[in-house]
Amino acid sequence: MRSPFVKFFVLFAVVLGSLVIGYYLTTRHSPSLADRPLPPLYSDPIKTAEQPIPATASSPARPDPFILTAPPAPSSPPPIEENREATGGLDPGGFIFPLDGLKRTDIQNTFDDTRGSGRKHEATDIMAPRGTPVHAIKEGNVVKLFNSKLGGLTVYQFDDKQEYCFYYAHLDRYATGLKEGMLLRKGDVLGYVGSTGDAAANAPHLHLAIFKLGPEKHWWQGTPINPYPTLVAIFDNSKK
Ligand SMILES: [Zn+2]
Repeated sequence: MRSPFVKFFVLFAVVLGSLVIGYYLTTRHSPSLADRPLPPLYSDPIKTAEQPIPATASSPARPDPFILTAPPAPSSPPPIEENREATGGLDPGGFIFPLDGLKRTDIQNTFDDTRGSGRKHEATDIMAPRGTPVHAIKEGNVVKLFNSKLGGLTVYQFDDKQEYCFYYAHLDRYATGLKEGMLLRKGDVLGYVGSTGDAAANAPHLHLAIFKLGPEKHWWQGTPINPYPTLVAIFDNSKK
């Protein structure tokens, strides 16, 4: 003879057992999240084909979409110091841009232009308002102050190793106290932009030439180097 309590207990056990079995049957064939194939968006065939990730307890064999699909770092431009060929052996890192307040597009490659009577320009013209201060692009001595028919008021400056000569032309005037033989530090003002010499009066600009000195170290003799790549590199450097 069964008491109502035993009847209730048996009924409860049957219902509970049914629930457990039913739950087991409905979940047994559902793959868990970790077993599901990843949607195409998250796959990285190149990386996973070459370097399968080993499965460990802490890192399952499953590509991490946030790491593996990251694009490769863009190749950075070569450091300026390594690009000496374009700059004629000059290290732009040792220079300062001669004029303030200009845009990159104000620097034009005018080295191969021809000027009066077919002579090659062999310099860079940088257009700038009259009176703009002109800074020494590198440390070195003023070797010659010269007033020429073509260049007008000019400064010839050697670099500190006397390997190169920097020639600044068409200056409106010299900086106060500028003298031949004096040492200019990088950035010192040596004069002001103008249009002396053969420059058009309505187009004041700095004519900057760089030439490699010969063994005699004559300020009027040397091999011209195109200043343009160096100037652009200096300008870009100054904006970093
Ligand atoms: Zn010029």
